[in-house]
Amino acid sequence: MGTDSCRAAGKAGPVIYPWLEAVNAEFSERFAEDRLPHALLLNGPRDTGKTGLATQFVASILCLENRHPACGICRSCRLLETGAHPDRHVVTFEEHPKTGVLRQMLVIGQVRELISSLSLTTTISRRKAALIHPVDAMNIAAANGLLKTLEEPRGETVLVLVAHDTGSLPATIRSRCQNLQVRPADSRGSIDWLCAEVQVTPQEAESALMAAAGSPLKAARMIRDGSIKHYDQVVSILEGLRSQRTAPGAAVAAMADVDPELLWSWISLLASEELKSVMGSSLAAREVSRLQSLADRNRYLLPTPIRKDFLLQDWLIQWSRIRD
Ligand SMILES: [Zn+2]
Repeated sequence: MGTDSCRAAGKAGPVIYPWLEAVNAEFSERFAEDRLPHALLLNGPRDTGKTGLATQFVASILCLENRHPACGICRSCRLLETGAHPDRHVVTFEEHPKTGVLRQMLVIGQVRELISSLSLTTTISRRKAALIHPVDAMNIAAANGLLKTLEEPRGETVLVLVAHDTGSLPATIRSRCQNLQVRPADSRGSIDWLCAEVQVTPQEAESALMAAAGSPLKAARMIRDGSIKHYDQVVSILEGLRSQRTAPGAAVAAMADVDPELLWSWISLLASEELKSVMGSSLAAREVSRLQSLADRNRYLLPTPIRKDFLLQDWLIQWSRIRD
């Protein structure tokens, strides 16, 4: 989750993104008044920098100077830099021990390991801290395993839970945490931030935000790694297919260089945009809606051995046949 970091290159201290300032202020206040709960739930949309902020919370919880942002120089802060702090525990996606494939869920074994680590006494800091992200990826057994610890953690422990979507989180977990809600960045603020951060014009920033489904961090990444240049290309290909100016075969060839994950996320986004303009025609709307779902399904099929060029060609042919 390196991309979720709140530290901006070339700057000395931790940087708080503008859209995280409110939630950070809320944490600061509780921290300064020494009224941190046992469990904090930092909840909000993907790609907003939540994990980076939660990492800063953990540093402050452990900081020997008891400061937020953490002092950066005490023994605790220095150990966190090296990743070897004995009072800091992190639960996140791990590789499956047999297949080596990164799991897409948090499992009971990880929770048991965490509980056992939390039962040890602190060695450096006043408190222990655990970061669990994304907590909404816990399976049922893992969530049940965590309940008791959330209710009565041993000693001075603060659990910082990060969730993209609390809807998929059991109510029993939610009700045991204090919620810190991250709001999505507003469009004007996101455009200003992108213009300053990656030196683009407001028009370019707007287009990149569109391609990133509103996430300024994702938009900045696309601008930095150059993938954004393919977005306009995909927009014009889909338009060309709809207006019969482009043939599906040519469209597949033209999209060959686009990262498949990005490509299908853009196709899905553009289909949802198209849906707004065909609402008058119920037949077309139904088709566009069906193709959007198909695009999402195709995206999930990417890690499988299925032929991706066939999937794409088939989808583009269907897209070209929609009639208003
Ligand atoms: Zn410190």
